[in-house]
Amino acid sequence: MSLITMKELIKRAEEKNIAVGAFNVANMEMLIGAVTAAEKLNTPIIIQIAESRLAYSPLYMIAPMMVEAAKKASVPIAVNFDHGKTRENILKALEYGFTSVMFDGSSLSLDENIRETNAVAAVARNFGATVEAELGVLSGNEGEGDVAKSLYTKPGDAVLFADKTDIDCLAVAIGNAHGKYVKTPNLQFDILKEIHERVDLPLVLHGGTGISPEDFQKCISLGIRKINIATANFEACMTGAFNLFEGEGPRNYFTMNEAMVESVRETVENHIKIFSFM
Ligand SMILES: [Zn+2]
Repeated sequence: MSLITMKELIKRAEEKNIAVGAFNVANMEMLIGAVTAAEKLNTPIIIQIAESRLAYSPLYMIAPMMVEAAKKASVPIAVNFDHGKTRENILKALEYGFTSVMFDGSSLSLDENIRETNAVAAVARNFGATVEAELGVLSGNEGEGDVAKSLYTKPGDAVLFADKTDIDCLAVAIGNAHGKYVKTPNLQFDILKEIHERVDLPLVLHGGTGISPEDFQKCISLGIRKINIATANFEACMTGAFNLFEGEGPRNYFTMNEAMVESVRETVENHIKIFSFM
C-alpha cells in the first residue's frame, strides 16, 4: 500500500533539495501514464484533480480510481484535491480517501482567505490530510486558454497568512500562471526569495507548464517543494491521440489508449527528472 500524505512527500523533497511533481489527471489513460512514469523512475509523485474539472471527470468515478492507483503503485503516491473551492466537494474528496486538499481562497480578501482556509483545514485534519492554500492570484485556467496577468503574492501577506492559518504548504504567485504561456514567463525570483526567507513553510508553484528546466530548478533552490503540472498532461494526452490519427499505424481504441498513456508517461517522466535533478 503506497498511498501517502502530501506532507510526507514534501518533507522528503526538502531533505533531498528537490521538488515533488503534482500531476493533474482527468481519465484512466492520464492516470496510468503518470503512475507508470513514477514507477519507472522509482520516484514518488502527487496525482491530483481540480474541482473545476469535475464536470468532465465526475468525482465519484475518478476519485476511487485515483486512490486505488496510489494504493497499488510500487512507489509512494499522494492524492490531492486541487483548487478546492467548495467545502462540500472538499469533504467528498476526503471521504474518498484523498490524502490532501488544496483550498483556493486566492480570490477572497486576505481575512476571508485566512478564515475559510482554517475552516477547511479543521475538516482535513480529521482525516489526517495535508492542507495547501494559495495567496496571490494566478491568471488562466489549467488546460485551456491563454494567460493574461497575475497578481504577485505580497511577502508581508504571506508572513501573516502563514502565521494565522493551519496549513502545510503555500502556493505563491510570482509571475507563474495557469494554462499556456503566450510568451516566456518572467518569474519574479526576488519575490520568491523574500517569501522563502520570511515564511517557514514549503512553497508550491502552480502553472508549471511552459516554465524552463533552469527556472524550475532555480525555483526549487528558492524553496519551491511542490510543482503542479496540469496543462502539459492534458496536451500530452490529446497529442498522443492526434499523432496516432495523423500517422500510418493501426487506429483503434486500443492503439489510442496506448498512445495517450505513452504520451502522458513521457511528459510526466520529463518533469520528474527536472524536479529531481536527475
Ligand atoms: Zn493551480
